[in-house]
Amino acid sequence: MEKSAKIFIAGHLGLVGSAIKRRLEAEGYTNLILRTLDELDLTNQQAVRDFFAAEQPQYVFLAAAKVGGIRANNVYSAQFIYENLMIESNIIHSSWEQKVKKLLFLGSSCIYPKLAPQPLKEDCLLTGLLEPTNEAYAIAKIAGIKLCQMYRKQYGCNFISVMPTNLYGPGDTYHPEDSHVIPALIRRFHEAKMQGLAEVVCWGTGSPRREFLYVDDLAHACYTLMHTYNEAEHVNIGTGADQTIKEIAEMIAETTGFKGSISWDSSKPDGTPQKLLDMSKLHSLGWRHKTELKEGLKIAYEDFLKRYP
Ligand code: GDP
Repeated sequence: MEKSAKIFIAGHLGLVGSAIKRRLEAEGYTNLILRTLDELDLTNQQAVRDFFAAEQPQYVFLAAAKVGGIRANNVYSAQFIYENLMIESNIIHSSWEQKVKKLLFLGSSCIYPKLAPQPLKEDCLLTGLLEPTNEAYAIAKIAGIKLCQMYRKQYGCNFISVMPTNLYGPGDTYHPEDSHVIPALIRRFHEAKMQGLAEVVCWGTGSPRREFLYVDDLAHACYTLMHTYNEAEHVNIGTGADQTIKEIAEMIAETTGFKGSISWDSSKPDGTPQKLLDMSKLHSLGWRHKTELKEGLKIAYEDFLKRYP
């Protein structure tokens, strides 16, 4: 991928896309093609086709998606399945039509069966039933992997897929109800501290285990794989270690300086009991994460304070 290559980052304003943009800019890439939602509706087939025909990108990072936490996935399930299927179908098909040299599709660790053996290996995909709270998103993301594989098989396209674990970091969405656990709790603990509240309520039982990756580490992994990986099978991207949600809540309380107590609302869903990725494949390709959770949470909190003064 030469420095002057024409690279389309779909979703460059999101958590993942903005991290990929930072990485490419830091590496000296100067020919990035970027479109906001107002400029290009990626669910619109004709608009995407026209855009690809006019711009002819050589490389594509497919980071655009309708995303959200456990509640948003449940409440907006029709939007999650429809918009994600449309975005990825339109971009992958247009990438084939316009002879894109290489495309990297981003999925999610929720593609794996709810009760698959942990840590989750790439080959446990489609071996069991999905976690119901994020089924809509997972089905769309599984379809994205299969699109990349089928376009490779039938047309010889070099389209690859990566499956990141739960992500966090600068550029996240800090919505009180619709975001993922880390940004939601950064906001809730910060607001409780500012308002002098004695207690913060978190969702579920606190017992599920989750693995978290700092988003700039993900962007580095994507950048590396765009240069080195050319196979049909998707690649897990994580740290290989997980924590309970209770431990995460305690770490966020400490990061934000909240000194009160934490309670649990078990009427809210826990989601899948554990989602720990098996990292053997990416580790064997020589990549490891750099940012540990404590340090990453500190940077995420600084980002929150800057963006939501
Ligand atoms: P998931 O990994 O797909 O389940 O996505 P989330 O990041 O939304 O949730 C992870 C876990 O954190 C679940 O067990 C939630 O019940 C728990 N959790 C605790 N408090 C919150 C909260 O305020 N928001 C969210 N999104 N999850 C929370």
